[in-house]
Parts: sequence; structure tokens; C-alpha cells
Amino acid sequence: MLYKAVSILKNLLAIPVSKEHENEFDIEINKINIVRGKITAKLFIIVELLQLFTLFAVKKGELLEEPNIYYGAMYLFLISAMMVFYKIFNTFGRDVGRYLNSINIAGIFFADIILIWCGGISLLDLQSGGLFIVYAVAILCVGVTPFYKPITLMFIYTISHIPFLILIPYFQVSPKVIYSIYINSTAFVIIAWAISYMRYKQIIQDLSYKKIIEIQYNDLMDSNKKLEEANKQLEQFNQIDYLTGINNRYVFDKIIKMEWDRCKRNFTSLSLIMIDIDYFKAFNDHYGHQAGDECLKQIAQVLKSSAGRASDTIARYGGEEFAVILPYLRKEGAEKLAQKIKNNVEQLNIPHSYSSISDHITISLGVYTVVPSNELTEKEFIRIADTALYKAKEDRNKVVVA
Ligand code: GH3
Ligand code: MG
Ligand code: MG
Repeated sequence: MLYKAVSILKNLLAIPVSKEHENEFDIEINKINIVRGKITAKLFIIVELLQLFTLFAVKKGELLEEPNIYYGAMYLFLISAMMVFYKIFNTFGRDVGRYLNSINIAGIFFADIILIWCGGISLLDLQSGGLFIVYAVAILCVGVTPFYKPITLMFIYTISHIPFLILIPYFQVSPKVIYSIYINSTAFVIIAWAISYMRYKQIIQDLSYKKIIEIQYNDLMDSNKKLEEANKQLEQFNQIDYLTGINNRYVFDKIIKMEWDRCKRNFTSLSLIMIDIDYFKAFNDHYGHQAGDECLKQIAQVLKSSAGRASDTIARYGGEEFAVILPYLRKEGAEKLAQKIKNNVEQLNIPHSYSSISDHITISLGVYTVVPSNELTEKEFIRIADTALYKAKEDRNKVVVA
């Protein structure tokens, strides 16, 4: 019966929290509670030490008399209790997730000890004609400092308030005053509980919003990362020739312009080798496109290994045409390199029975070197190198220097 009543009350007071985040929110809330609990414990220790000191200073000779002895004992008790709680919070605070249940139980004890103690002080005050202000302040503080689940706080207040109500008549004789304290203190409890209920609801809402923002932020970061990777890949696709793995025409156009300007500024020579595979259509027609692709890849590798300086750029210019950009390389050097490339391709010894000039794959090369100046544009530069290649094509398997 009682269990059923508690369970109904629990449902009635429950603040909806998504199940998956319940534990996480509990940890967040208890982290705040631990910090506040430690501050409260320290404050009580300081205040009670001061009160103890005042008691000693003012009531020197009457320390052992009533009610001073009770006050003194109460102060000493609270100082010791707060020291213990400070130690407990400090220990549990190191790993809130692990000690969650213990922290919840310690929190209940902490609040109740404070409430019962303040209730006790108020009863002593009432006996000497004072008010129940200490207890009232404690009720409010417990309502507004930590974050307790509404049902937990209801339990905390019940534990402290019922004995307080029962004990009042033993410390106060006037029925009128007793009645007014009953009404007022209970009203305090209800108001403080209502404030705490609203605060708890608010913090759950804040944490939920924070969680939503966090999830959205993480999603955004994930998408950004994917987008960045896709962009990187796209950029690579834009720059690398898919078949041969060397630079594509786009990079060639960019680099030739850049090197043209750079060599022009530095008054240094710039060489360009244009390359075309001989009788490649016939090769494809007879050996198949896959063999043609393989041949293109092998020639690209030869270019890679032949023009290996950091400043050299090799690129696939078009179908079976390649280009090598060679900054700082003079005419003789460029011609030498072109010969080397031609020889290296021949050494690949790729059979080509349908070539009219050889029984294996050969290439034709056109070379042009110039110190860039205003007399020429880089487009004309490329055209002249291309013309040299056309000349080489007349005989094939040849290097022609423009
Ligand atoms: P030439 O000696 O006068 O250069 O004759 P060619 O047959 O080499 O020249 P042509 O321009 O007539 O043919 C070029 C061939 O290159 C045609 C095409 O099938 C082949 N080709 C171009 N790109 C690719 C490619 O990516 N893969 C393959 N397998 N073949 C390609
Ligand atoms: Mg061609
Ligand atoms: Mg060709």
C-alpha cells in the first residue's frame, strides 16, 4: 500500500528525462552538488568555529550552564559532521560516475543533518524566547543550493520536519506561538520544495538543450570531416590522371604558367618535352585497350623515373601524349633527357608487331628551351614544342629540338 502510494507520487512528481541521458544528467547534477556541498561544509565549519569562539568569549564563566552547554555541543557536533562530509564529498567527487548512488545517499544525510541541526538550534532559540529563523533559513537553503529530485527532497524535508513539529511543544508553551510555528514552518517547507522542483525541472531542460546542441555539433563535425575528405579526394581526382597516376592536363596548364612566370622573373631557361607514342592506335587495335592502358602506365613510370628532380613536372597531356616541364634546364640538358626517355621507353621492350618502324613500342619527342621573356607567351612556347614533336613524328622514334 505504502509502496504503491510512493510509486504513484513518484510518477506524479517525475520530471521527464530521456532514458539514454538519465545517467549522464545525474552525473552532471551531482558534480554541481559535490562542489556546492564542499563549499557549504567549509562555510559551516568557519561559521560554527566563529560561534564557538564567540560563546567562549562571551559566556566565559557560564559555559557549562544551560543552554550554553547545549549550544556549544551543537556547534562542536556540526563542525565534526561537516568535516566528515567534506572528506566524503572530496573522495566521491574524484569519480562522480562511480559513486553516484553513494553521493545521492550522502546528499540526503547531509541535508537532513543540517536541517535537523538547524531545527535543534531553533528549538533552543524558541526556548529562550527567540524565533525559528535558523531552521527557516536552512529549509530555504536546502531548497535552493543543491539539486535534488523532487521526490528525494520531499523525503529529506519529511525526515527533518516531522520531529521538529513533534518537539515544538517541549520548547514552547504558548499554544498560539506553537500554532503559528506549525503553520509558518510547514509553509516554508512547501515553498522551498516548490522552488527546488522548478529549479530541478530547469536544470534538466538546460542539460537536454545542451545535449541536443552537443549532438548537432558532433553531427556537424562529422559531416565537415566527410566533406573535407570528399573535397580532398575530388581535388586529387582533379589533379591526378586516373589511369597513369601522374599529373593530368589541368596540372600541366597550371604548372607551365607558374614556371613560365618564375623563370621569367629569374631570367633562367625553361624546357618543355612533348611526347607522343608511335602507332598507338594500331597497338590498341591489335593488342586491345587493356594492353594499351598498361603500356600508358609503363611509359608514365619511365617518365617518373627519368625526370626525377623536385622541380620537374611530368603530366599526361592527352590520350597517348605526355609532357615534361623542366625549369632551369638548358637546351643541351633537355635534349639529353629527351634521348634518355626515348631510350628508356625502348628498353621497356613492349612488343608492337604493327608498328612500321620497330617491333616494339617507341615514342617521338619534341623539345623546346627558352628563357621566358615578353617576346613570347607561354602558349606560343607550348606550340613551338608541339611543332617540334610534329617534326619528330615525320620519322617517328626520334627527338627533335626546336
Ligand atoms: P602516331 O604514330 O601518328 O602517333 O599514330 P597513333 O596511332 O599513335 O596516333 P592516333 O592519334 O591516330 O591514335 C592515338 C590512339 O591512342 C588512339 C586511342 O585509341 C589511343 N588512346 C588514347 N587514349 C587512350 C587510353 O586512355 N587508353 C588506351 N588504351 N588507348 C588510348
Ligand atoms: Mg597523338
Ligand atoms: Mg601517337
